[in-house]
Amino acid sequence: MSLMPAIPPTRTLGSSDIVISSLAWGMWRLAEDGRTAANAARLLHCALDAGITLLDTADIYGFDGSGGFGDAEALLGEVLTAEPGLRGRMVLATKGGIMPPLPYDQSPDYLRSAIEASLRRLQVDTIDLYHIHRPDILTHPQEVARTLDDAVAAGKIRTLGVSNFTTAQIDTLQYFLGHGLVSTQPEISPLRITCLANGELDQAMRMGLTPLAWSPLGGGRLVHAENERDRAVANALDRIAEEAEVSRSVAAYSWLMAHPAGIVPIIGSQNPDRIAEAAQATAMRWTRQDWYAVLVAARGERLP
Ligand code: NAP
Repeated sequence: MSLMPAIPPTRTLGSSDIVISSLAWGMWRLAEDGRTAANAARLLHCALDAGITLLDTADIYGFDGSGGFGDAEALLGEVLTAEPGLRGRMVLATKGGIMPPLPYDQSPDYLRSAIEASLRRLQVDTIDLYHIHRPDILTHPQEVARTLDDAVAAGKIRTLGVSNFTTAQIDTLQYFLGHGLVSTQPEISPLRITCLANGELDQAMRMGLTPLAWSPLGGGRLVHAENERDRAVANALDRIAEEAEVSRSVAAYSWLMAHPAGIVPIIGSQNPDRIAEAAQATAMRWTRQDWYAVLVAARGERLP
């Protein structure tokens, strides 16, 4: 059975000249469990040592429903201040535009202040990739575009991306932007395959956007599969994982990475061993038959 193309260890971020690892590490859960800057530094080193150079955070990470807004960025900022040499080893991505309890705000004044606040907390001069976290339907995309273009022109942001946008919202924001978007960040996992069929990945390929997959293990549901459908997907992955002598998680990451859109899974684990293990995903090779077997399990029905 012929194998699908090997997964490259690095990719180019959209149409930019920025090289990123084929896997990213996410910091949504970084500020949980009373983690200190020393703990955070250990995890960051672990990701970098595993060859993971794209780091994804957001201003809202750390928010627990009442407080903690900005805590994950601030923790990373502490790590970078203590060890300034780390900054040059990473491509730093963050997000803004969700402001509890509003819930979304991308009006020019707010978005400008959110970008400044992220720079302050992260203690950096430039953000490599800034995502609008979720679309604010009450701000005209032309205004959002102007604020983002100004931030790029001022050197505060190098490249731009969106998260949780529909294909029409991406087209429209891009229509007004002077700079090309480089990434889109939807939820994608073997348990969440919507964007394989709704045009989002087709649009990413057409526009040259790097798709960053959030919750690539379904937020952990793939590991602790509890219902029939989740178990069927887990079993389909296990069959391949056992042959390749890797864990189910690694098989899930590589299943996403084998898609021709060049999906970059954002590892959500805050466990050093699991972060290090994720790097094995680039070494896995898929046959079409095995890949489609996981898709069929995810669909819950045969392909037509
Ligand atoms: P995920 O990889 O789907 O899930 C991670 C969770 O699964 C963690 O709680 C982790 O626990 C657990 N897990 C992983 N492997 C495990 C194993 N072998 N055994 C037991 N538990 C295991 O990713 P996620 O954290 O939901 O999201 C990943 C990243 O996506 C976030 O950090 C963030 O950067 C991004 N994100 C973006 C959005 C957005 O709207 N743009 C939304 C959500 C997330 P351990 O830490 O104990 O390993």
